[in-house]
Amino acid sequence: MNIVIMGVQGSGKGTQAKKLAELKGWKHVNLGQLFRIEMTEGTDTGKRAKQYITSGELVPDEITFEIFKHATEEAGRSMILDGFPRTPAQAEYLLKHYSIDLVIVLDLKESEAVERISARRNCSSCGRDYNVLFKKPQKEGICDVCGGTLVTRADDKPQGVQRRIDIYQEQANKLLDFFQGKVKITKIDASQGINEIFSELVKEVDTLQ
Ligand SMILES: [Zn+2]
Repeated sequence: MNIVIMGVQGSGKGTQAKKLAELKGWKHVNLGQLFRIEMTEGTDTGKRAKQYITSGELVPDEITFEIFKHATEEAGRSMILDGFPRTPAQAEYLLKHYSIDLVIVLDLKESEAVERISARRNCSSCGRDYNVLFKKPQKEGICDVCGGTLVTRADDKPQGVQRRIDIYQEQANKLLDFFQGKVKITKIDASQGINEIFSELVKEVDTLQ
């Protein structure tokens, strides 16, 4: 079984994908992470990807597909796809080469996404993530682990957040138009707590098995 998970930043998409993979023993295919791994390891594909990224250009789909293929060569295991596909062209590739059982959309109002992302903080020395709404440090502004100062990343500030959400929304609409009528699509209300979202997600997946 293969499912695609979609959701705006702040919807908890990565967390839910990871939890589902752990519970079911599936492979969590996180495209952003795969890119980072190939680039760190300096593989041929990783090197090519890096050239585009460092010059601020879009990575061509053929490189993205190679990276995706490397991660999914291990046969016989169900997958949850996170961060791929992003465009109708990528979705077309996916449906041509893989069978996809379900597309899950974690639905979150724009205002709520902005609020959640703006609440993110990072430790300036060890990089640990916090969130002043859900994952507060014990002492305000101070990292629990190393005592470093917590800061807001530049792209987590309201203007950057709004821009990322607009870009996501435009991509997501095109993608969902493409999937419509080809794959089952289910929306889950992501304004709920992590555990409520997760139990709905598991219920949806279990109805397929
Ligand atoms: Zn720290």
